[in-house]
Amino acid sequence: MRFTRAAALATAAALTFGMTACGGNSESGDSGSTGGEKKSFAAGSTMEKLNTAGSIKVGTKFDQPGFGLKGLSGKPEGFDVSVAKIIVNELGIPEDKIEYVETPSKVREDVIVNGTVDFVVATYTINDKRKERIAFAGPYYEAGQNILVKADDAAITGPDAFKAGDKKVCSVTGSTPAENIKTYVKDVASQLVLFDTYDKCVTALDGGQVNAVTTDNVILLGYIAKNEGKYKLAGENFTKEPYGIGVKLDDKDFRTFINDTLEKAYADGSWKKAWDDTAGKFGAELGAAPAVNRY
Ligand code: GLU
Repeated sequence: MRFTRAAALATAAALTFGMTACGGNSESGDSGSTGGEKKSFAAGSTMEKLNTAGSIKVGTKFDQPGFGLKGLSGKPEGFDVSVAKIIVNELGIPEDKIEYVETPSKVREDVIVNGTVDFVVATYTINDKRKERIAFAGPYYEAGQNILVKADDAAITGPDAFKAGDKKVCSVTGSTPAENIKTYVKDVASQLVLFDTYDKCVTALDGGQVNAVTTDNVILLGYIAKNEGKYKLAGENFTKEPYGIGVKLDDKDFRTFINDTLEKAYADGSWKKAWDDTAGKFGAELGAAPAVNRY
């Protein structure tokens, strides 16, 4: 490596070079380095601590095509993962220093509160109940709840189909769709089946234990894309699900940093590129960049 870490500190241009050059380059003469880019953040801030550590833990899904799906590479891939990488890059941490922690819906607040992860980006709807325990940066996308059925199902055309009391629907514990669907289901105990992941719901649909799976349209579109001709959406979206990035409740500076990073990514095209390379391939619309909510 021709540039030392000290040289990389000298100018903004050198900083940029330092990050590019160190990412995955094993020729560095600085053998003790984690390969990160030294940035200047407020002393004691989460950003400074993470930058100094040179590594980060990110909570995301491992079973959601287009958003967070762990494939053959052994690392999750998708829009959420790409958004995480944009934030991690801005922290001066190389992508290979991200430890991904599988974060099913029901544990998201817990892993933020107990510090298992530094932030969560996991199709995570911003809502007031969750805001009692954690804080959200974003939104960075707005999804909407929908219903997945087998391609030849003509009986279920929307959530009202569950009012008759004979159809079973699957969702995930601790998710907003699991709560929302209760207002349509005649008998929750017999009709609503809950698992910890959407994968298990889709398996239950395949096996005929349930007639439908309900969650956000974009998650369902991922399953449709991965299984051509097998499933379809039953009708229109019937809720709004703005996706946020979960951080510790009192960490306003980190939240502000992530919101600034999102706005930068909206402006420089990296947010749109992240979408186009991932979930955008599955037929959902990105729409205009949502205004971040600096509450
Ligand atoms: N966006 C919804 C939620 O945060 C559903 C997706 C999910 O379970 O991750 O609960």
